[in-house]
Amino acid sequence: MTIKFCSQCGSGKIESALPPGDDRAREICADCGYIHYVNPKVVVGSIPVWGEQILLCKRAIEPRYGKWTLPAGFMEEGETLAEGAKRETLEEAGARISIEQLYASYSLPEISQVYVLFLARLDDLNYLAGSESLEVKLFHEHEIPWDELAFVAISEALKRYFADRVKGSYTPHFSDLRRAKIR
Ligand SMILES: [Zn+2]
Repeated sequence: MTIKFCSQCGSGKIESALPPGDDRAREICADCGYIHYVNPKVVVGSIPVWGEQILLCKRAIEPRYGKWTLPAGFMEEGETLAEGAKRETLEEAGARISIEQLYASYSLPEISQVYVLFLARLDDLNYLAGSESLEVKLFHEHEIPWDELAFVAISEALKRYFADRVKGSYTPHFSDLRRAKIR
């Protein structure tokens, strides 16, 4: 991401340069010398399970408006991963969950995102579409709208989940999702 203004002094003179001892160029304020480090963002979310069914949200926002996704979003400052997953699930699906285990982590280096998804149990059926969702619905495996999923990380996690369910064991996993797969 390109920085236009210095968040420290408001200057518009931002230059790309290699700070002493660093191994890559950074955006540096020419007026106050502040170095603007830009690091990946964490997208945290859950796979909310109710018996044989999974809770998905239909997106009411861009990108991927109208596509289905697991409740997930950018982690906020001051919260833990598990708190972030619960908050996103409550915000997007109006659902309360109990975290069961860490399940999946995906690195998307080209868009500077890291996904962390938890397996979770829905506490009850009082879910309700939040402002970022058009609809929230429970799906059996055969009902999953595979061609209408919003993000490749979501389809990866769901494919893995249903394969693990057949085996009866849910092993945490990680993988790298590169541009070719991101669409
Ligand atoms: Zn500055």
